[in-house]
Amino acid sequence: MDLQFQNYINSFKERENTMPVLFIGHGSPMNGFEDNAFTQGWIDAAQAMELPSAVLVVSAHWLTRGTHVTAMDFPETIHDFGGFPDELYQIQYPAPGSPDLATEIQKDIRTVEVGLDHEWGLDHGTWTVVRHMFPEANIPVLQLSIDYSKPAHYHYNLANQLMKLRKKGVLIIGSGNMIHNLRMIDWQMMKENKGYDWAEELNNQFIQLIENKQHSKLYNLQELGEAGKLAIPTPDHYYPLMYSLGLQDAKDDVEIFNNHLVGGSLSMTSVKIG
Ligand code: ZN
Repeated sequence: MDLQFQNYINSFKERENTMPVLFIGHGSPMNGFEDNAFTQGWIDAAQAMELPSAVLVVSAHWLTRGTHVTAMDFPETIHDFGGFPDELYQIQYPAPGSPDLATEIQKDIRTVEVGLDHEWGLDHGTWTVVRHMFPEANIPVLQLSIDYSKPAHYHYNLANQLMKLRKKGVLIIGSGNMIHNLRMIDWQMMKENKGYDWAEELNNQFIQLIENKQHSKLYNLQELGEAGKLAIPTPDHYYPLMYSLGLQDAKDDVEIFNNHLVGGSLSMTSVKIG
């Protein structure tokens, strides 16, 4: 085991500053190798914070029964998409994992038994984002799965139990899209970075509710009305937001970035908390 890695796994101690929490609208897997305004927003967010001791991602692309955390020394880069250029399948993100941190997460979550996973790895909800933020791939990266049998409020409460990790330098990222309706994607609008009227309105409503910390309106999905049904036909890309909001402390400031819709019904809107 190299010395740098040894140092990391011994470094989950309390720090002076609490780490921020992010929600990242990850959008198309192509963002994994493009350099564009969205990936620049992710880089800027990373550069504005202390270097984390580890990164824990709740990705829209790891849906399970029960909750699991990746616990291998070296998670694989998973290319969980089809029909994209070869270059995207060649990308590897060889960040280490951290079995120690996985065990700690298992202990921190008291309301449910968290499984230690040795099969998954880093799916594209994680690596297409994190490789821009931490290109050296020398910080341990873990994933926490989403129990897809549970409602939004469950995820919000579960996340809250991970608050201690923020004090130990762990950067927690919810990676999804607040508005994510792929069937309604309009390719012309994709070129123009535009949203349908209902999507633009809902995006503004989301921002307002997040800035005013009206979280109950966000985890009660029926309160989002008809636009909510169009925006969240299935909640896979929405649930990661519940994790980010569930980790918000009363003192935390909220900052919105990458505030754009693409293709009509996909929002890239991202949030930095704390
Ligand atoms: Zn996705």
